[in-house]
Amino acid sequence: MSTESTQTFATAEDLLASLEPEVGGREMLDPATGEVVGRAPEHTVSDLDAAINDAHLAQPAWAALGHEARREAMNTAADAIEANAEALAVLLSREQGKTLNGPNARFEVGACVAWLRTTAGFELEPEILVDDEGGKAELHYRPLGVVGAIGPWNWPMMISVWQLAPALRMGNTVVLKPSEYTPLSVLALAKIINSALPEHVLQVISGGREVGEALSSHAGIDKIMFTGSTATGKAIIRSSADTVKRITLELGGNDAGIVLPDADPQAIATDLFWGAFINTGQTCAALKRLYVHEDIYDAVCDALVEVAGQMPMGVGLDENNVLGPLQNKAQFDIVASLVQQAKDSGARVLVGADPQDGQPGYFYPTTLVADIENSNELVTQEQFGPALPIIKYSTTEQAIQMANGLEVGLGASVWSSNIESAREVAARVQAGTVWINKHGAVDPRVPFGGAKQSGYGLEFGVAGLKHLGQPQVISY
Ligand code: NAD
Repeated sequence: MSTESTQTFATAEDLLASLEPEVGGREMLDPATGEVVGRAPEHTVSDLDAAINDAHLAQPAWAALGHEARREAMNTAADAIEANAEALAVLLSREQGKTLNGPNARFEVGACVAWLRTTAGFELEPEILVDDEGGKAELHYRPLGVVGAIGPWNWPMMISVWQLAPALRMGNTVVLKPSEYTPLSVLALAKIINSALPEHVLQVISGGREVGEALSSHAGIDKIMFTGSTATGKAIIRSSADTVKRITLELGGNDAGIVLPDADPQAIATDLFWGAFINTGQTCAALKRLYVHEDIYDAVCDALVEVAGQMPMGVGLDENNVLGPLQNKAQFDIVASLVQQAKDSGARVLVGADPQDGQPGYFYPTTLVADIENSNELVTQEQFGPALPIIKYSTTEQAIQMANGLEVGLGASVWSSNIESAREVAARVQAGTVWINKHGAVDPRVPFGGAKQSGYGLEFGVAGLKHLGQPQVISY
């Protein structure tokens, strides 16, 4: 099956050297140090056309292999990622900025393996819908054809696998466009996966938003898997309209966490912290606004400050660090401006909010902001960085109303010592997933998707797999 020999790269440098464009390419800089990581090819719309054409030619044979052979190829790809895990994690850390340790680079590479293996293992048998004296109706899922995947820069490897694994499992071929901020990570991952796949089943076109636009309007693309901002999601809906493309949209979030008065501040503080600060806050389903009952408000604030003080931030390759820089200058400026507005409004900074000038890297310190109005932009906008607003509430009714007050609804969480009361509140929160006493814990077996303007369609689980197939009823 393999078209490239399965290869193990001892270091990220060896892996990078295997990707380097022969001429040209764009310099990618490490967001922690400003050093050059490597050069990424700059593919064009005509490269995209060629890739889509090749993907069409490769698709029938890939579909004809059948479920077992595709499952085997995906498991071999997972083995290859494991064999190259450290080189991949180091490259990811250097290009994206995330630290090797904590729920970051090594964790992300591990998640790629988990999602590939779990998705490979799903069964999707035809469903018998009707079987009586009047006749039979069966529901089958057929491959769609060529899937276009467009991804963001925050979890570039893991989100690519979220998109490509179910697509491949269903017998589609994939053309993937990574974020222009993190192409090397995705090119490297695809190189490793491709050691287990036939040629042109998975291709990466490394280009900017014009390539994304061309992909989402292309007549040769049967489905778009998109993960990114809500604004880009809306642009993709528009550009895909003329070809009536199927689309799965995983868009921005501004997840609320509600801490009920019976929660134990000490017991929940570390999980609250990581719910918000995973990947230094650059996570779609991170906790981005925390609502705490007035009875335990001060105790929760104190416990969070204590945890924050134990989490070192710095260059990703330093084994001590668990928090890193913002991935790019634009995101640094968004976080800095939102925190400044909160300070100007009279909100109380518990820790952080004092970025150091003149240092290399887009480091914004871990920031906790208390006594902030719910209407403040640090609450209402997606900050996507290490700055958490903590809002005080008096009644559960008020907390639910504030949690539901925005146009987005990706995830949410409820924190309580009583699961039943937490479930009652959870049922009233408008979000695709509501976690209890944890936040952002995704699982390849459990469907994930947004409510409201956080998107539509589902990923993960057999429910997610069905979104990569064309439902077909056979009736007789
Ligand atoms: P972005 O929307 O700026 O870019 C995402 C991708 O879309 C990039 O590859 C970009 O080149 C491409 N693109 C840009 N304009 C396009 C267009 N007009 N047509 C087609 N493609 C286009 O998002 P980002 O800044 O990379 O990522 C951060 C955002 O992603 C945050 O809002 C975050 O919440 C969201 N996100 C959501 C999830 C989820 O599962 N819901 C996961 C991760 C990130």
